[in-house]
Amino acid sequence: MNYDIATTLINSGRKEALLATETINPPVHRASTVLFDSYSDMLKANKGELDKVAYGTEGLAAQKAFEESMRVLEGAEGCIAFQSGINAIDMALLAFLKSGDHILVCDNVYGPTRNFCNTVLSRFGVETDYFPSSTGSEIKNWIKDNTRVVFVESPGSNTFEIQDIPAIASVCADYEITLIMDNTWATPLFFKALDNGVDVSIHSASKYISGHSDILLGTVSANKKSWKTIRNFCETLELFAPAEDCYQALRGLRTLPVRLKQHERSALRVAQALEELDCVAEVLHPALESHPEHELWKRDFKGSSGLFAFVLNRDLEDRDHSKFMDNLELFGLGYSWGGFKSLITGGRFNRSNSFRYNGRTIFRVYIGLEDADDLIMDLKQGLARL
Ligand SMILES: *Cc1c(COP(=O)(O)O)cnc(C)c1O
Repeated sequence: MNYDIATTLINSGRKEALLATETINPPVHRASTVLFDSYSDMLKANKGELDKVAYGTEGLAAQKAFEESMRVLEGAEGCIAFQSGINAIDMALLAFLKSGDHILVCDNVYGPTRNFCNTVLSRFGVETDYFPSSTGSEIKNWIKDNTRVVFVESPGSNTFEIQDIPAIASVCADYEITLIMDNTWATPLFFKALDNGVDVSIHSASKYISGHSDILLGTVSANKKSWKTIRNFCETLELFAPAEDCYQALRGLRTLPVRLKQHERSALRVAQALEELDCVAEVLHPALESHPEHELWKRDFKGSSGLFAFVLNRDLEDRDHSKFMDNLELFGLGYSWGGFKSLITGGRFNRSNSFRYNGRTIFRVYIGLEDADDLIMDLKQGLARL
């Protein structure tokens, strides 16, 4: 047929685009519509019976490739990517909770997770209690008739307490409670959440998984028992992550094992060097024998990552701490972690239950891929200014 140029332009190049498809990396599609091969396929899609993606909201090549790779890594029934780690956490909680329910959250939880429980879940009639991070099978004593979810994070954000996840999981299984874990620190390489009895494992893929501090992304992976709940919730709400970011995260995921080993090695060296300094009271790193729950870590984890903290033996004024922080040359002052660059944060943290570091300044260091000796030298020269 001889078409007008406007018509030709609308349809040109589509066949040619399909000629080169077997690249190592998935294509990043920009798409709402996915074309069906036939009317009969369309009818199948209407009934949810087509074994293909029918619309862009289901996620296309890059999302599918990333989610499948994470699913395999987690040993999960399924995985869904979200626009950020905190978004993944919030949506997983919404998927499993309803008005009138009660949720138990570990006291060492990531701050924005606590904020979501206190300001959003509370508005929908979900009541939250925070249990001490040292709670294992005694979690039984915190359970109410309407407890539906237990949320854990091990090691805890900023303070690095290790929780007895298998003990908590066994109680949750007895009471038919869904156990959700923020497993960002260890990645599935160093802690197999689902194998340890967790139902839903969440990661901020902004951290190690993408690994280059250039995207925001989160994942939720679930076992057989919990997968349909989260999948149906996401389908209904049309929750999905951008294709570009999934592409980047998948690219990072390919080198995760190599990077993580290097972070582990360097962080241990820096942690040991800090432990030897007179001005440092305590290094909060689960792989050190001095860590209060070191034995739990050894029992359950396959490695340690590059994020840990320390406290000084004399707590100074913030303006004095600035002399240390502002003069570091290799550590950036900034949130997030998991990339190639070393970072540092500091602050005082409050908890609902009594807590050993109450009111103390905790310095959290993230050890990147720089040389460990250079990093040790930088921390020493910074601390010398105090
Ligand atoms: C960073 C982080 C999150 C949130 O991830 P974003 O992708 O930054 O939203 C959640 N949990 C933990 C433990 C984190 O470190």
